[in-house]
Amino acid sequence: MDCIFCKIASGEIPADIVFQNEEVLAFRDINPQAPVHILVIPKEHIESVTKTSQQHEAFLGNLVLAAKQIAKQEGILEKGYRLVINCGSEGGQIVPHLHLHVLGGRKLDDRLG
Ligand code: 5GP
Ligand code: ZN
Repeated sequence: MDCIFCKIASGEIPADIVFQNEEVLAFRDINPQAPVHILVIPKEHIESVTKTSQQHEAFLGNLVLAAKQIAKQEGILEKGYRLVINCGSEGGQIVPHLHLHVLGGRKLDDRLG
């Protein structure tokens, strides 16, 4: 499948990887919107939250827990950070492989979009 994040997960495309475990991979966004901007993805391809169901409960939980671990690793756990999942075109999702943005390292805008 021609998916850029699957290619990062397989090592075909390089990325600045900051965290991984059996299910999850995290790497720095190529176009960071904040001093810390990391993308957390499942290694297995799934397009979006829209495509998940009850069976993905633990899988989705693991993404959020990995994000918290990354926030700790990046030293922003206490000051605060933002977790964002864009879903579909009006949600601003460009890459069709589920991913969670971890943003921090500066005071983020109050507006969400
Ligand atoms: P979306 O808008 O789909 O939620 O976010 C996609 C994100 O992926 C964007 O912030 C974009 O900068 C990032 N991105 C797209 N292609 C690449 C890539 O090849 N490598 C990395 N590290 N980030 C990418
Ligand atoms: Zn993929």
